[in-house]
Amino acid sequence: MDQFERLNQLPLRDDLRGLRPYGAPQLDVPILLNVNENTFGVPLDAKEAILKAVADELDGLNRYPDREFTELRRALAAYLGHGLNEDNMWAANGSNEVLQQLLQAFGGPGRSLMSFPPTYSMYPLLASGTGTGYIEGFRDEDYNLSAESAAEQVRSKSPNIVFLCSPNNPTGTALGLDIVEAVYEAGEASRTIVIVDEAYAEFAHSGTRSALLLLPNRPRLIVSRTMSKAFAMAGARVGYLAAAPEITDAVRLVRLPYHLSAITQATAVAALRNSDALLANVEAIKVQRDRIVNELIRMGLAPAPSDSNFVFFGGLEDPAGVWEALLAAGILIRDVGIAGHLRVTAGTEAETTAFLQALEAILDGVH
Ligand code: PMP
Repeated sequence: MDQFERLNQLPLRDDLRGLRPYGAPQLDVPILLNVNENTFGVPLDAKEAILKAVADELDGLNRYPDREFTELRRALAAYLGHGLNEDNMWAANGSNEVLQQLLQAFGGPGRSLMSFPPTYSMYPLLASGTGTGYIEGFRDEDYNLSAESAAEQVRSKSPNIVFLCSPNNPTGTALGLDIVEAVYEAGEASRTIVIVDEAYAEFAHSGTRSALLLLPNRPRLIVSRTMSKAFAMAGARVGYLAAAPEITDAVRLVRLPYHLSAITQATAVAALRNSDALLANVEAIKVQRDRIVNELIRMGLAPAPSDSNFVFFGGLEDPAGVWEALLAAGILIRDVGIAGHLRVTAGTEAETTAFLQALEAILDGVH
């Protein structure tokens, strides 16, 4: 009996039967450009500040942490600006947990979540984990979503929750605020909760407007962010949301007490105090992202416009073969299972050069 058969012998929930856990391959490869991390790492100044903040926590480690993580909520509000304060903020162990808590509060059996694939592949899994029905919306052939189409789909399906991912993973493209506004209005009758997942917001081209601007007077709108990407803190597991205070009160009903450890809180607060240092590489990443787009076009490929720290590109005859050949060259990127396409994270200049050179050699048939 293999591991999967043994799992199926358990009295597992029927709706979990046959599912496979989410996860990109974790391989030990020199150049990791597969999960949209910030590959520059944590700058020394920020490391020292975090180390001191964590050390200061150790004396109190026998006590439960601040259940309300008030200092962290205050620091997050100050970082986002837009007139937000701690009552508008909530945080959890990665934005995945924030999204899960929102589904626990507003989804669940008999309720539904709608999103617009191709989009972040965790959405249907978060739905199934919380017993929430999943409604697959659709985009046009170029993976674009218009305000009219999104609003019409929401009106016709009346989901309890909509996830709009902007910039979208895996395509990388940001949504216009007209789409968020139209979806919010379309969900008026069904009182749909609209969650804009802005995990990659800091990498957007200047002029891209955040859905944070739309929060005033929209009590059903939630903006989700993370410290995993621009802040180079994926390992710390800190995600957060901004919304009306009553949304954070709803999440308090489902969160586990003390879900954010004292170490996590101290790390995140110290990181936010050093946000200039931590975010210093965002511009350099954007330069590499734009370089990838331009170079892929030169190679005859078809990259999608990217407002994120990764590039989704089509025009490949054999994406699985290219993925394998890159891996053989020590470079791990992501096959998101979309015909003719792959996705690559923008890394340092050296990593990006290695990727582009290896890809060009593979496409030229020089292995
Ligand atoms: N949203 C999107 C669109 C993502 O791509 C990711 C990470 N890949 C997340 C949320 C979750 O990130 P985290 O839990 O690390 O905050």
